[in-house]
Amino acid sequence: MALRPYIVGNWKMNGTRAMLSEARAIDRAAQRHMKVEVAIAPPYTLIHAAHREAEQIGIGAQDCHPGEDGAFTGDISAPMLADAGAKFVILGHSERRECHGESNELVRSKAEAALKAGMRVIMCCGESASTRDAGKAVKFVTDQLRASLPEIEDPDNLLTVAYEPIWAIGTGNTATVADIEEMHRAIRALLVELYGAEKGAEIRILYGGSVKPDNAREILAADEVGGALVGGASLTADSFMGIALAA
Ligand code: PEP
Repeated sequence: MALRPYIVGNWKMNGTRAMLSEARAIDRAAQRHMKVEVAIAPPYTLIHAAHREAEQIGIGAQDCHPGEDGAFTGDISAPMLADAGAKFVILGHSERRECHGESNELVRSKAEAALKAGMRVIMCCGESASTRDAGKAVKFVTDQLRASLPEIEDPDNLLTVAYEPIWAIGTGNTATVADIEEMHRAIRALLVELYGAEKGAEIRILYGGSVKPDNAREILAADEVGGALVGGASLTADSFMGIALAA
């Protein structure tokens, strides 16, 4: 059974309590468009309040530590996030991989921790401009994913993959539909190989990278695109729900 399109907002390091009004507005609008599954990942500081105030949409986190507790100053564990109301964690985002030197192995251990804590995982992958220019994008992304994805019995509703070409994030450049479809088909083949024909076919593959209300319809209609991971355009309810309505 095909899952609903999944539209996820990644607020990154944006938002103080004043932005909870956007979360409430997204929540209200999402309740009128139940054909789409809507979720947002605010910064850690807003997770609990967003979970209380935006009850119908999924609230998630943008990272977690692989351990459960201990002497890790400044880190937040998966059980803590689940306790705060997070239902999913975005992992392996290129900004974590690049700015914090996160390896595939670390990303994978974080995914295992998130699943153990009862949360869903959105696993990000994506190539740089130089890798794409060298014609190595598909191999790079599938190798990265193969090394980052956790072993999991029932991945269909617990695991989502987000393909986010690094050169498209926050730049206003989006991949062409042909490039998105080529990559999503390669990711689908990998998921089927790893999780089996039935379960691998059900995992949603999101596209991320400068998705906006005016390009969302074309991207979301592409083959093997099960939704979008949205950065900048998720910061206001108007633009974010403009994307959700295009799904
Ligand atoms: C992201 O970083 O997850 C992202 C897709 O950002 P933007 O939509 O701003 O390109």
